[in-house]
Amino acid sequence: MKSEIRVRIAPSPTGFFHVGSARTALYNWLFARHNKGKFILRVEDTDLARSSEGMIQVILDGLKWLGIDWDEGPFYQSKRIDLYQKYVQKLLNDGRAYYCYCNPEDLAREKKAAYERKQDWRYDRRCLNISPQERAKRERLKTPKVVRFLVPDTPVSYHDLIHKEIVREAKDVEDLVILRSNGIPTYNLACVVDDFEMGISHVIRAVDHITNTPKQLLLFRALELPVPEYAHLPLILGEDKSKLSKRHGALSLMTYKEQGYLPEAMLNYLSLLGWSPGDDREVMSTREIMETFDLSRINPSNAVFDEQKLEWMNGQYIYAMSDEELLEQLSPFLVTFGLIHETDIAAKKDWILKVCGLVKLRLKTLADVNEVARYLFVDDFEYDKEGLQKHFNADTIKVLQEFLSKFEDTEEYNAQSIENCVRTYAEAKRLKARVIIHPLRLFVTGKQGGPGLFEIMELVGKDKCVKRIRRKINEFKEQHER
Ligand code: GLU
Repeated sequence: MKSEIRVRIAPSPTGFFHVGSARTALYNWLFARHNKGKFILRVEDTDLARSSEGMIQVILDGLKWLGIDWDEGPFYQSKRIDLYQKYVQKLLNDGRAYYCYCNPEDLAREKKAAYERKQDWRYDRRCLNISPQERAKRERLKTPKVVRFLVPDTPVSYHDLIHKEIVREAKDVEDLVILRSNGIPTYNLACVVDDFEMGISHVIRAVDHITNTPKQLLLFRALELPVPEYAHLPLILGEDKSKLSKRHGALSLMTYKEQGYLPEAMLNYLSLLGWSPGDDREVMSTREIMETFDLSRINPSNAVFDEQKLEWMNGQYIYAMSDEELLEQLSPFLVTFGLIHETDIAAKKDWILKVCGLVKLRLKTLADVNEVARYLFVDDFEYDKEGLQKHFNADTIKVLQEFLSKFEDTEEYNAQSIENCVRTYAEAKRLKARVIIHPLRLFVTGKQGGPGLFEIMELVGKDKCVKRIRRKINEFKEQHER
């Protein structure tokens, strides 16, 4: 292993930050932090037509949200074009690369035709040995030209830290274009130059890049540069075992933020997509993960993105929060769902803290608050259909009407006194308490289940409870008196 660990994340801005790229960033960062090395951020934005500042910002925001900090960069490849051109020139001077004047559309057509005949197609080096006269003619005509790497005729093998020995025959590697006709380098060339220039010791990236690695190794050799170590991370699959795609749910990291996932939970979950601590720990703090993280524990087989497990893990993190922390995280969601005005949060802080304590166990995501606790904040909530079928009838209306007159008379108002009122009334009427409790819960919360009803009623407040019970009684009467 090289003395200083220097790793990088090299995202191409494509408009969103894929969870797979976030996992790659995380593993590099964990590896750097664990080994007291450096983590470098490099933006691969040479595809100028597809990159924009906004897209780059999405990546930076995603990293910041997860708490992944970088030591150097961001470096932008689009600002380093001269540097790549110098390396290309060196390859040309050394006879390791050559100009190619072929028309890309003609080549694409040939390739397509070969593909249709089910034949392999490789660029046949027809520009490698063109005569000086022919070259002069093409230059005179200003025929667009690219630079191709003259791939040496030797097999490439290397030791991947995750996939072990990898061998690639030279005949499988085509003379790749390294500089486009507009003077912009291609990914493989720019990547090799930067990995060298930035002193990268380990290239840790997703396995879909494994076919690029032999090309990059050949470029390193041709440029007589030291080669980094390689570790190719397993793919992330959807639950149906196909490559993770939109139809499996969200691919963008920030969508998880919007859905109310906590960055620590997301980081914890992503860390386990291909790596494990070697024991049965799952919920682990970032510090713990960082201390335990090691490339040798990365599993070469594909990982499956299990939304339910992520949800479960997020719920664990929410449950472990103090009420104060939860209030802080929950507030933007309360405002977004119209449960409270931003300006009222401070004044109602003590009350919201109690709500946090009451519903914490039931939140898998912060956004669940709208479903789980809406009725604690506002009167316009939906009623459970099955609950209405069971408890919205003449018998329960009669019971609740009688109960309501007792309930309105209570002087003290807290969970205990509410419970006493329910039980005393039930005993007096020789009813089972649940005969009152079930419709009461439905009328006050719209739901058939949830946290303790008496605690809920205390938080909702007496006036609102009375109003809600009366609302249902009146509704029933209106429907049946017509
Ligand atoms: N720009 C490449 C990507 O976003 C980086 C590949 C690499 O890490 O070498 O996939």
